[in-house]
Amino acid sequence: MPRPIQATIHAQALRHNLERLRRAAQGARVWGVVKANAYGHGIERAFDALRGVDGFALLDLQEAERVRALGWRGPILLLEGVFEPRDLELCSRLSLWHTVHCTEQVDMLALHKTHVPHRVFLKLNSGMNRLGLPPSGLRTAWSRLNALPQVDEITLMTHFSDADGPRGIAAQLAVFEDATRDLPGERSLANSAALLRFADVPAVRGDWVRPGIAMYGSAPDHPEHDSAHWDLQPAMTLSSRLIGVQRLAAGDTVGYGSSFTASAPLRVGTVACGYADGYPRHCGTGTPVLVDGVRTRTLGRVSMDMIAVDLEPVPAAGPGSEVTLWGRSRSGTVLTIDEVARAGGTIGYELMCALAPRVPVVVE
Ligand code: PLP
Repeated sequence: MPRPIQATIHAQALRHNLERLRRAAQGARVWGVVKANAYGHGIERAFDALRGVDGFALLDLQEAERVRALGWRGPILLLEGVFEPRDLELCSRLSLWHTVHCTEQVDMLALHKTHVPHRVFLKLNSGMNRLGLPPSGLRTAWSRLNALPQVDEITLMTHFSDADGPRGIAAQLAVFEDATRDLPGERSLANSAALLRFADVPAVRGDWVRPGIAMYGSAPDHPEHDSAHWDLQPAMTLSSRLIGVQRLAAGDTVGYGSSFTASAPLRVGTVACGYADGYPRHCGTGTPVLVDGVRTRTLGRVSMDMIAVDLEPVPAAGPGSEVTLWGRSRSGTVLTIDEVARAGGTIGYELMCALAPRVPVVVE
């Protein structure tokens, strides 16, 4: 018998979320962001459900090759552009669009002789201070690119640092609008949070939006709103089963470090899931979990292959009972990945991306 842990990718949820984002985009074209192996869901597994995008945005050439190998002939955008001159050759061969975020990438392109025209997303640093040309350098870069015969279209882009937080987008949007005023070409600004929270601002939607996390069903501005508020459905369920049950007396402890002590007699279930499966070690005592679709909590420390859960709210549960670490239980109860992440002091993005290779994955 294999260990009972499994991840399920819900194709219908991916379709639903994409449709939801398309409505928010109000006619702007949608990049489906599938970097980091589709945020841990698997590019090949998510591909069919995400075919309705206008293009796939991702990070590296290997991922782009995988998308082309699946038969995708539409646009693919490299979100960080290229790192080496020889990568431009592959860009041409695979017809990739690429981000240009620094002068060195403009230089590289200027030296690249090709008959295949390049479509470039010229990135402005409007305040994130991660990638992008400063406002003072944008026009020079734009003019240099515009003069190159090997560049046939320039889209202006930026990325928001706090679209999901209290600062919002206003300051960065003002920097972007100021720096790009009078420059022709399409615009691309919004990630999931900007698209959903500021959908009524046309300048934020621009011509291309770039949602990632919301496609996978995680709320972009958790905990202010949960995914149900945004009508998003979890695209990944991590489930397992109880493989043991212990009866504790008052004063007994649970797991390594004896970090949880029972104050009264308590039934404790042992779940086949641990940090080596990608469940965060920081999700010790108190993290929500579903047993047979009923909400309960973890107890003690997370081990490499197991966690302990409180069975008091589920008296009928025993070995073999269904455990939902995040996602949707068979009975339809949802435990959002955001809630679990929060209990572990992290974000849904990290949990999705950290699903371990040893966990079998099915698509349904
Ligand atoms: N655009 C860029 C440039 C990104 O780096 C990312 C992800 O970090 C996204 C879009 C998608 O962001 P989100 O997953 O928050 O929607």
